[in-house]
Amino acid sequence: MREQLVVLDTLQRIDLELSKLEENLNDYPRKISDFEFELKTAKERLERLDAEKQTLQKNKTRLEQEVSSNEELVKKAEQKLFEIKTHKEYEALQKEIADTKRRNIDLEDKVLEDMTRIETVEAEIATGREDLAAKEAEYGEKINGYKEKLEEVKSVYEPKKEEKEKIASRISPELIPIYNKISKRNGGVLALAKKELCTGCNMKIPSQLFNEVLTHTRFIQCPNCQKILYTEEELNSAAKPE
Ligand SMILES: [Zn+2]
Repeated sequence: MREQLVVLDTLQRIDLELSKLEENLNDYPRKISDFEFELKTAKERLERLDAEKQTLQKNKTRLEQEVSSNEELVKKAEQKLFEIKTHKEYEALQKEIADTKRRNIDLEDKVLEDMTRIETVEAEIATGREDLAAKEAEYGEKINGYKEKLEEVKSVYEPKKEEKEKIASRISPELIPIYNKISKRNGGVLALAKKELCTGCNMKIPSQLFNEVLTHTRFIQCPNCQKILYTEEELNSAAKPE
C-alpha cells in the first residue's frame, strides 16, 4: 500500500517532467524555425530590393542611350537643314527635329524618375542590411541557445522515459487504469485526505470511507474527483522506492 503510494507519486513526478520535456521538444524547434523564417524573410526582401535596383538601373541606362541617340539624330538633322532645297522638305525636317527634342524631354523626365526611385531603393537596401545584420546577431545567438537546449532535452528525454518504464512496471495492475485515467485528466492521481476532506477537490469524504483511508486496507478513491486518497502520516512513513 504505502510503497505503491510512493511509486504512484514518483511516476506522477516523472510524467510531469516528461510532459515538460515533450513540450520543449516541440517548442524549441518551432522557436528556432520562427527565427530562421524571420531571417529568411529579411534576406528575401533585400534580394527583391537588389533586383528592383538592377531593373531600375537597366531601364535608366536604356533611356539614357535613347536620349543620346536622339541627340545624335537631332544634330544630323540640323546639319541636313542647310542642304535642303524645298520649303516643304525643310518644314518636315524641322517638325521632326522638334518632335525628337520633345520626346527627349519626356525621356529625361523618366530618367530623373528612375534616379529618384533608385535613391529610395538604395536607402531601403541600406536600412535593410543594417536590420538584417542586427537580426543575424540577435537571432543567431537565440537560435544557438535553443539548439543547445534542444540537445540537452534530447539527451535527458530517453533516460527519463526508461526511468518511467521501470517505475511503471512496479505499479499494481489494478492501479494502472486508474492512473492512466486520472493523471491525464486532473494532473495528479493522488489527493491528501485531511479531516474527512479530499484536498484534491475540497469535498467531504464520507466518514466510513475516511476510516478506510486511515486503516489503509485498500486503495480508496475520492467519490467526487476519483483521486486516490492518502493521509499525511501514510506518505511520510512510506519507504522511498529504490
Ligand atoms: Zn476529491
